[in-house]
Amino acid sequence: MNQPIIIFDFNRTLYDPDSARLVPGTLKVLGELQGRGCVLYLISRGGPDRARLIRKLGLESVFAGIKVTERKNLRDFRAIAKRHPTASIYVVGDRPSQEIRLGNRLGFRTIRFLRGKFSREIPRSDDERADLTIDHLTELTDIVR
Ligand SMILES: [Mg+2]
Repeated sequence: MNQPIIIFDFNRTLYDPDSARLVPGTLKVLGELQGRGCVLYLISRGGPDRARLIRKLGLESVFAGIKVTERKNLRDFRAIAKRHPTASIYVVGDRPSQEIRLGNRLGFRTIRFLRGKFSREIPRSDDERADLTIDHLTELTDIVR
């Protein structure tokens, strides 16, 4: 079966550091996506504190894989693609210069979440331009199928 794969960013995509909480509705949307057969991954920048926070928020059981890394890199994204060679792969995040650029370089479908402090960040090149933009995570249930 060819399940869609979605690779999420953490900070300011699922998690709001200003309120120190998950973005409202996050768990519901993730649950709905899983209910539709999507396989979810998380790639977050950070160190041990970030990994602890992700556990504390109860996200471990939601994702097929979680990677916390000091620097987002092509290798981690490519490793997921290798596990699902025929799947459609989506990347959801808020930073054009980070996960959107990496996703574009690997030919994934990139979805930029326009939220918070980086919503006005302008792509510096075509590499950083997402295929789609969303204002709410709930829009994902219509996009990913
Ligand atoms: Mg982010």
